[in-house]
Amino acid sequence: MKPDCLILRFGELTLKGKNRKRFERSVMAQIRKVLGSFPDLRYISEYGRVYVELGGAAYEEASAALQRVFGLASFSPAYHAPMEVEAIQEIALQIMQALPKQPKTFKVTVRRVNKSFPLDSQRMNYLVGGYVLQASPGLQVDVHQPEVELRVEIREEQVLLYAEVIEGAGGFPSGTSGKALLMLSGGIDSPVAGWLAMRKGLTIEAIHFHSFPYTSERAKEKVIDLAHQLASYTDSLKLHLVPFTEVQTSIHGAYQDNLLVTLIRRAMYRIAEQIADREGLNGLVTGESLGQVASQTLPSLNVIGRVVTLPLLQPLMMMDKQEIIRLAESIGTFPISILPYEDCCSLFLPPSPSTNPNLRMVEKIENSMDFLPELIERAAAQTETIEIVHGQLKKVSDAHLF
Ligand code: ATP
Ligand code: MG
Repeated sequence: MKPDCLILRFGELTLKGKNRKRFERSVMAQIRKVLGSFPDLRYISEYGRVYVELGGAAYEEASAALQRVFGLASFSPAYHAPMEVEAIQEIALQIMQALPKQPKTFKVTVRRVNKSFPLDSQRMNYLVGGYVLQASPGLQVDVHQPEVELRVEIREEQVLLYAEVIEGAGGFPSGTSGKALLMLSGGIDSPVAGWLAMRKGLTIEAIHFHSFPYTSERAKEKVIDLAHQLASYTDSLKLHLVPFTEVQTSIHGAYQDNLLVTLIRRAMYRIAEQIADREGLNGLVTGESLGQVASQTLPSLNVIGRVVTLPLLQPLMMMDKQEIIRLAESIGTFPISILPYEDCCSLFLPPSPSTNPNLRMVEKIENSMDFLPELIERAAAQTETIEIVHGQLKKVSDAHLF
């Protein structure tokens, strides 16, 4: 038995009135897009939910596509039945038997929208529940905390039954929260930070710093692959590739002690802010997580973060590595992230990077590096931008320094 309908529910219960309408319109536009390859779908909007009649489309494919839609809170595969008690009972039983995991308890909830249906909802509850029970040894009714709630909606022309509620991606629809620049490394964390930002409705552009030839062409390819994986949740993504070698080697040439990482990360942030301003982006998204490494202690974050004035959006800050890894697996970036690569940050690392840098000291060292502002300008100016289109690759502007 295959579901012939989907019931979609929207997220963010806090939204009201006009905002809610706009929210639902944006989610629906995205849903129509991801389901665009299915020819015969019919959408019916009702009481804040949407029914999608599948018209023969494969449920598994539609379901996989829907799980990538931000703003969709949950959805249910549903089954039509004619307006006859025996048919409803039989389909109810089949739905229960087809559940991925057999429950010990259940309850039936009938909603009668069509008041001309001859049996009221209580009577239908009894008839459907009783039928399922007598055919399912070991199954019990629990009206308070059932493992499965089998819902029966008696609508105007047909009856709709469903028992599963599948969690959607949640969040806000794509592009409804403004634009930000994601600092994308080849690691595990920053792609997850980018996905969480996108889920909150941000349009993301990404920036990556590479130190060719100290970092390889493959490390860059890996970041492009990660950007592609992120682009699969929207449609496309701009990726800015910054030639960082000169900045990094020059800083290292002038200073090699325990504040080196702090200095290099501040230079990165500066360049990122310039690119963000140039592109009209209103925040920087990074994958920092409190306490993970020396540069992510609170004193380090303070000294690094102060170099820019744009809001820093750091969604992983309070998460444990295990939670981040779980998310990375579920969004499909983990297998790419764990491929071997060299991060430009780990080049020329001092033996003991400071966990408690002193801002005044850092600024003093920077002031002594009179070459720095010009190198930062140049790295920003020589940044290559490529448009990552889900499934294909197109160059926007060319590199000068590769
Ligand atoms: P990740 O797994 O995202 O690399 P991390 O735990 O390794 O994070 P760091 O290397 O200290 O941490 O980097 C902290 C953040 O700085 C990253 O999450 C990312 O947002 C940004 N970042 C680091 N290296 C780069 C790079 N080469 N290009 C762009 N952004 C970077
Ligand atoms: Mg890293």
